[in-house]
Amino acid sequence: MKKHWGLCLAGRWFTTDDTLEVRSPFDGSVVAEVSRASQSQIEEATAHAVRAFERTRSLSSYERSVILEAASAGIARRAEELAKVMSLEAGKTIRDARVEVARASNTFKVAAEEAKRIGGEYLPLDWIQNSDGRFGITRRFPLGPVLGITPFNFPLNLVAHKVAPALAAGNPVVIKPASSTPVCALALAEILLDAGLPPDAISVLPCQGSVAEPMVADERYKLFSFTGSAEVGWRLKSLAGKKRVTLELGGNAAAIVDRDLGLSLESAAEKCVRGAFANAGQICISIQRIFVHCDVYEPFMELLVSRTRKLVVGDPLEEATDVGPMIDLASAEKTESWVKEALAGGARALTGGVRRGAMFEPTVLVDARPDLKVSCCEVFAPVVVVSPFSDMEDALERVNDSAFGLQAGVFTHDLRHAIRAFERLEVGGVVLNDVPTYRVDHMPYGGVKDSGFGREGVKYAIEEMTELKLLAVNSKG
Ligand code: NAP
Repeated sequence: MKKHWGLCLAGRWFTTDDTLEVRSPFDGSVVAEVSRASQSQIEEATAHAVRAFERTRSLSSYERSVILEAASAGIARRAEELAKVMSLEAGKTIRDARVEVARASNTFKVAAEEAKRIGGEYLPLDWIQNSDGRFGITRRFPLGPVLGITPFNFPLNLVAHKVAPALAAGNPVVIKPASSTPVCALALAEILLDAGLPPDAISVLPCQGSVAEPMVADERYKLFSFTGSAEVGWRLKSLAGKKRVTLELGGNAAAIVDRDLGLSLESAAEKCVRGAFANAGQICISIQRIFVHCDVYEPFMELLVSRTRKLVVGDPLEEATDVGPMIDLASAEKTESWVKEALAGGARALTGGVRRGAMFEPTVLVDARPDLKVSCCEVFAPVVVVSPFSDMEDALERVNDSAFGLQAGVFTHDLRHAIRAFERLEVGGVVLNDVPTYRVDHMPYGGVKDSGFGREGVKYAIEEMTELKLLAVNSKG
């Protein structure tokens, strides 16, 4: 992968004097030098996107599908190179980086299929007497330029979740990637251009958040799709004016481990360890809280703690590594202070709790009060808080006792408990017999409460990115 990257403005590459050094969170080495966009380049990209819409809106389903399929193949062809650069810029373990690259390729593949399925419906309108001979046809039309702002933790696939549905729907798209991880997004632009996308349909503009902010208010964008923290997302929404907004924000996801499980306690514990510590806990649906039925609490804790201690923490590029660094020193220091606060407030660490630079040891806390930051805020770090429960209704209430609501996991063999959880949990998705961290890329995905609104998962994002229009026909006219 090359070391110097220009920015991609309407399919053309520009280098600027204002550059950003992308550094490895593991050892601080320079991964790449990236050009940052100026205000005037942002204005130019927006104007191009408006013009590009005339072209993208008239591409046939077949043409859009072929481009998206070629992009999927392009990602697969460059998989190892992309995984390596992702591991370097984001500190993601190389094994997890390979999984993300494969998912991104699949996201485009799904979009290639969905591009051909943007249908409508026939509606009989002759339900009342004076509407005799009337019927309607609905059809979805592309909205216009889409603005996507993306976070650091899935630097390729979360860009794919904005770009692929936007293009499938026939919209041009402008991406502002996270400043710590812009290279994957720029490489994706290269792949899209190689795949035959009309060049002015894509811009990837690394820049500071404050430089990108005017785009959020710009009325020429018809949809603003944001993935990132709740703090930034809700503030930006207030600037977005009349455009549509999709917010994919943070959470403090919970798992419930019932007395009667749908699988073995070992398997549930193993899944919880992965769900809590993969990507150093920096996943919006990472497990932060586990509620375990008191009848299985002790054996579950033994399994959870012993498996957590076995995790290999270290260089993300090493094949054996399970947990790499956090994205930067400041994030690890913040985690350390929250864990210290929890310990001072009566919590106990059964393992972990130690920071070395940007590395934070996988940490299991018990006896943590619900008002501690590690319980009620988004920790976004390799820290999990475990508590026992004796009554399922109480466990459901404790999961709901959160400002957030992305996904929840429920391990249970009891059908009544499973249905009750589906009905009562205030989240965008309930995952039965697995962790809340489960996601495949075509399922509807998104949150409620402070976790945001709108749904991704290609088909659902296409719905957000299109306008439903009705043709009402008077066949007797
Ligand atoms: P973040 O700090 O909110 O940043 C997200 C993006 O917003 C970055 O590109 C950032 O740019 C940009 N930004 C910041 N301030 C801005 C402004 N004033 N105007 C325009 N853009 C601005 O989040 P993060 O630390 O990258 O990501 C972690 C968060 O994302 C967590 O809360 C996590 O839960 C959430 N997340 C949610 C989902 C989901 O699907 N629900 C998925 C992944 C992550 P800079 O990088 O230049 O600051």
